[in-house]
Amino acid sequence: MKKINIAIDGHSSCGKSTIAKQLSNHLGYIYIDTGAMYRAICLYALRNNIISDGIIDEELLFDKLDNVSVSFEYDKANNQCRTFLDGQNVESEIRGLWVSENVSKISKIKAVRQKMIFIQREIGRNKGVVMDGRDIGSVVFPNAELKLFVTASVEERARRRSLELKDVSFEDVIKNLKDRDEDDSTRKENPLIVSENAIVIDNTNMTKEEQFEKVLEAYENAILN
Ligand code: C5P
Repeated sequence: MKKINIAIDGHSSCGKSTIAKQLSNHLGYIYIDTGAMYRAICLYALRNNIISDGIIDEELLFDKLDNVSVSFEYDKANNQCRTFLDGQNVESEIRGLWVSENVSKISKIKAVRQKMIFIQREIGRNKGVVMDGRDIGSVVFPNAELKLFVTASVEERARRRSLELKDVSFEDVIKNLKDRDEDDSTRKENPLIVSENAIVIDNTNMTKEEQFEKVLEAYENAILN
């Protein structure tokens, strides 16, 4: 069967990774969560005082960037991703609010994006990859055979996210989502856009099953072309 690359972009916490995991399991493809890469770099910057009081020392980050290693494992049996920063599993730490509140400041830096995009393109070189993020269809793989743009109302996204983040208030979750939507959509470097030929999926009122049915239909059409 012909292998393709699948780009999934969209707003924060809209369920991109759910679709990406379903697809990669179904097709036997590699799954890459590019948000985790930016989150890991953000954690590195926070731990090393490269960000303090919300201000980034861009020069220092630039000096250190070449020596920071970010890698992943996706455990298909347990449907879990593990993200490693310099060999240490940081999967749970990168999901916390400390990182969420600072990650957009890191992801708008050109040198950071260049490094991440280089790694992402290497991974996708032989096709058979499902990648989710903000600029996958527009920049990383503009020729991806299937591009999805996923969204949902901000209230629904915050409700779903709050179920995962038990010790954070709903108000803090919704504020963080609105801030990141704004930062990610308005930044100069590779902003979040609906890229050309992307299929838009608004899953505010959809079940995971209904959504996957729609996605599979889009996949079937994509491999015929
Ligand atoms: O997908 P997730 O919400 O984990 O991404 C965290 C952050 O990483 C986003 O808010 C965005 O700033 C950044 N990001 C990005 N480009 C990507 C993936 C994520 O700028 N391809």
